[in-house]
Amino acid sequence: MSIYTGPVFEMARAQFGIIADHLDIPDDERDRLLYPKRAIAVSVPIHMDDGRTEVFQGYRVQHHLTLGPTKGGTRFARHLDVGEVAALAIWMSWKCALTGLPYGGAKGGVACDPSRLSIRELEAVSRRYMQEMIPFVSPQTDIMAPDMGTNEQVMAWFMDTYSVHQGHSVNEIVTGKPVSLGGTEGRREATGQGVAYLVSRACDTVGLKSQDCTAVVQGFGNVGSVTAYALARRHGVRITGISDHTVALFDPAGLPLDAIEAHVRGSGVLAGFSNQMKIDPGELLTQQCDILAPCAVERVITADNAGKLKCRILAEGANGPTTPDADLVLAQRQGEVFVLPDILCNSGGVIVSYFEWVQDLQRLFWTENEVNDRLERLLESAFGQVTRRAQRERVPMRTAAMAIGVEKVRAGKQLRGLFP
Ligand code: NAD
Repeated sequence: MSIYTGPVFEMARAQFGIIADHLDIPDDERDRLLYPKRAIAVSVPIHMDDGRTEVFQGYRVQHHLTLGPTKGGTRFARHLDVGEVAALAIWMSWKCALTGLPYGGAKGGVACDPSRLSIRELEAVSRRYMQEMIPFVSPQTDIMAPDMGTNEQVMAWFMDTYSVHQGHSVNEIVTGKPVSLGGTEGRREATGQGVAYLVSRACDTVGLKSQDCTAVVQGFGNVGSVTAYALARRHGVRITGISDHTVALFDPAGLPLDAIEAHVRGSGVLAGFSNQMKIDPGELLTQQCDILAPCAVERVITADNAGKLKCRILAEGANGPTTPDADLVLAQRQGEVFVLPDILCNSGGVIVSYFEWVQDLQRLFWTENEVNDRLERLLESAFGQVTRRAQRERVPMRTAAMAIGVEKVRAGKQLRGLFP
């Protein structure tokens, strides 16, 4: 069990311990529920543009196969390790079970900095990684998707590499592909649209009108940017703060999102947009706002800043942004800060990935309206289940959400039994 180490894995383990206690799960069932079915580690050697050969480490963790194939994103990030990947796979399991998808969780990735790779090098890393994973994935065992540092183009290279090996096109091996290759309408925006939808439901619950709200969004990649645009353009929210890994911007009067969108389209990052609006990235999170949406990396809401948050709704677009120590602080502030926990808040991404897989298997494609209608129905159902359970059992929203997910996986394991 010792290969799973590091602070992110410890977080997933601590959270599971709280849920296992809450559900009274006997000790001898806990390891079977928590520890991954499989972890695969591979070397990814590629020719660099300067003629050197460089070897990157790649991973894939498949958490459980109890309810169907595993499903999860692929992260390209400099300091990726197997403990972080395992934690993300475990969270995916609870998320899929909570939203009723017939999947276990998985996650994978390569320890590399994609911003320092040329397009040719990025393609080589992507193809070689998928090549190394071919014995361990298939549309019936494990389906990949994008996560931090990967995108539709990387998914297209994954699909092509797998398909060349099989001798025919296997569109359903990955989700988050370009629509022209069997991707679905609405997938690129799904996670952020889902975050914005759930924020509007949280506003209803706590008695806020979204048109009167302000929001701070950390991270301006796929999830953060779409969350900010959807909150502003669909729900009338004033976006007062945003950040990425280069800079944080804040203006209580509201940020000019159209101009920022044009700037990022050109340069890829927020840096260089404005000097007047710059703010310390750590301070951004504790600015006065109605909605705070961390949509970047793990462990940014800690015991140090949880007591200083001035938001009414904490919408976790990222996976694992809040540490268990911070949760203890937030549990004392339940009437002040309404938490949309990650496995609920960002579940729009895997829900629409599931729709993409279903459409690929059936070779029958839906309109964007059909995708979004079905997405909202599943989000609404999950939101209702979590809020009702949190009220009924007087527990934080994260405990309620995870309890529903863990219970479903546990029930599946009990029904299937333990072989031999
Ligand atoms: P991305 O690579 O598209 O964007 C990441 C963004 O975070 C970038 O803007 C980057 O500059 C910024 N960032 C990185 N470090 C930062 C820091 N320290 N402070 C502020 N900003 C920082 O990734 P993404 O797909 O948007 O994923 C973001 C988060 O959402 C991750 O936790 C991911 O696991 C989670 N998530 C993604 C999806 C999806 O569909 N892409 C679905 C569910 C959850």
